[in-house]
Amino acid sequence: MSAIAQRRDLMVQIGSVALTPEEFHIAYPRVQAWIQKTLTAHEKDAQPITSMRFVRLPFYFDHTLLETTKFIPIDRVPMPPLSAMGLSRFAAFEQGDFNGVTYLDRYFIKRTLVTEEALHFHELIHVIQWRVLGPEGFLAAYANGLDQFGYESCPLEKMAYDAEASFKRSSAIFAAEDFVAEQLADLR
Ligand SMILES: [Zn+2]
Repeated sequence: MSAIAQRRDLMVQIGSVALTPEEFHIAYPRVQAWIQKTLTAHEKDAQPITSMRFVRLPFYFDHTLLETTKFIPIDRVPMPPLSAMGLSRFAAFEQGDFNGVTYLDRYFIKRTLVTEEALHFHELIHVIQWRVLGPEGFLAAYANGLDQFGYESCPLEKMAYDAEASFKRSSAIFAAEDFVAEQLADLR
């Protein structure tokens, strides 16, 4: 996800009691079902990233990833109804107006921002995280990170923002997939 203006609000509202494995266990199948339903409903609007003809992304990501991953332009990116799923601690996050959000190998992106290559870059980092960790691993790591550190410092977001910053600086080209795999290995 990517939402600079939202960060401050979210930080304040993160609860202090840690998410329990039981809470996650109850919420996970609900979140998973919501993701499937949401992706199915929007699949007709999904476009391959290659259709944008971005010139820099191919230096960082495999061609196959750029061909199989799709993005969905939308006015407001959909967030799971976490409060209704028993996770009211994430109410502020759920209401956030984000620029993009990734679910598995699909990401939603604000219609007005579809030409922003760096935003696609950020969401593609999440696509790799989803793939490496698997859906349950990704959601557990994301929820725990959000819970413990807040949006901005949640390790999976920090990784995406750090990589995005390097991409924007165009300091050096790097293989994004290897970057994510190494960073995730360090977290374990
Ligand atoms: Zn993000």
